[in-house]
Amino acid sequence: MTTPSVSTSPAFKAPKGTYDLTPPRSAAYLAVREAFAAPVRRAGYGYVETPGFEDVRLFARGVGESTDIVTKEMYTLTTKGGDELALRPEGTASVLRAALEGNLHKQGNLPVKLWYSGSYYRYERPQKGRYRHFSQVGAEAIGAEDPALDAELIVLAVDGYRALGLTGFRLLLNSLGDQECRPAYRTALQDFLRGLDLDEPTRERIEINPLRVLDDKRPEVRAQLDGAPLMRDHLCEACKAYHEQVRELLTAAGVAYEDDPRLVRGLDYYTRTTFEFVHDGLGAQSAIGGGGRYDGLSEMIGGPALPSVGWALGVDRTVLALEAEGVALDLPATTDVYAAALGEQARRTLFGVVTELRRAGVAADFAFGGKGLKNAMKSADRSGARYALVAGERDLDEGVVQLKDLGSGEQRAVALGAVVGELRKLLA
Ligand code: AMP
Repeated sequence: MTTPSVSTSPAFKAPKGTYDLTPPRSAAYLAVREAFAAPVRRAGYGYVETPGFEDVRLFARGVGESTDIVTKEMYTLTTKGGDELALRPEGTASVLRAALEGNLHKQGNLPVKLWYSGSYYRYERPQKGRYRHFSQVGAEAIGAEDPALDAELIVLAVDGYRALGLTGFRLLLNSLGDQECRPAYRTALQDFLRGLDLDEPTRERIEINPLRVLDDKRPEVRAQLDGAPLMRDHLCEACKAYHEQVRELLTAAGVAYEDDPRLVRGLDYYTRTTFEFVHDGLGAQSAIGGGGRYDGLSEMIGGPALPSVGWALGVDRTVLALEAEGVALDLPATTDVYAAALGEQARRTLFGVVTELRRAGVAADFAFGGKGLKNAMKSADRSGARYALVAGERDLDEGVVQLKDLGSGEQRAVALGAVVGELRKLLA
């Protein structure tokens, strides 16, 4: 038997690569989610929620057998019934699966526009900004091929970041071509890559997914990639015209972008438009969001042809970016009014006043646990409230409560029946 631990630290901790969101910092996460969701709601995207796990084959087929996400980073499990499941590493495959299963694409109104918010899981090497459990808000427009739709999604993401007050982010833009022009480019790229000095896993990658080699971050690989053929120079006329329209629409919407001909992203399903938002204040894990067009994904997972486009924005990294920029979010106060009662009768009366205040839309809290007045006033200060309500038996006999301005220290008696109206006026 092991000796019981004498340490005062808790017996259980959040698993490696994860962390808890606790107040007050957690409020920033809610604000980020809301800032991303508001623009897409206004653009007609409906909320979708899918299970946290799926048939593992959905991701193997959808995200791609050769991607790091599928080969190294999935949390997989076998159920007691023998089903092979994976915790979702990303949102697009699940959302498309749900749209197909629910026949949303057959209701005569394409594109089907959906947005989501949730937890995602990747078994990655943890570091600042890279976690094994993280949070994304995503949006997908399913079933339409239109450069205005690609532009719409990019603009909505930019509007989300801007609404938060974020300024130090950049948009990287590329086109990955389509089934017309990509095969010839792929062959040209493979020919180039086979002539390089690369390790065995990378040589294997050349045969399965050569575009991803372009994305290799290792300096010894990067150094050899100068002069690699770029998709940009191999786009067919249709892809070129499509990309040009996306760029024009972005410019007209006042959205600046940088052409990045090497941007390929880590998922296999992208075609044509691909983009990433990066923030320069974040160090190595600089991507705060990304997405693109995935015209072939529906067919890859057994559906009809449904050209689609979408993005996922990282909530954790956006909070880090806001902190890096020193942006103070305009968060609603958690408590505006704090009530402290002396004696049982006053407790009942003030509890009623607090309930009434809350129902009138005022953030109000109450000195619970039978605290003495001194302690209750300390709690009032700590709560951040602007006003305190104090009442004892004598106040009640006179039909008043004491209203104290916690900033100035000023205190006056207010008639019990008028106090809710008075506080609403003061806080308006
Ligand atoms: P991806 O699906 O990889 O393009 O991810 C979209 C966004 O989610 C990224 O731009 C990041 O902001 C965020 N993200 C992806 N993986 C992680 C992770 N392991 N930890 C934190 N955020 C992540």
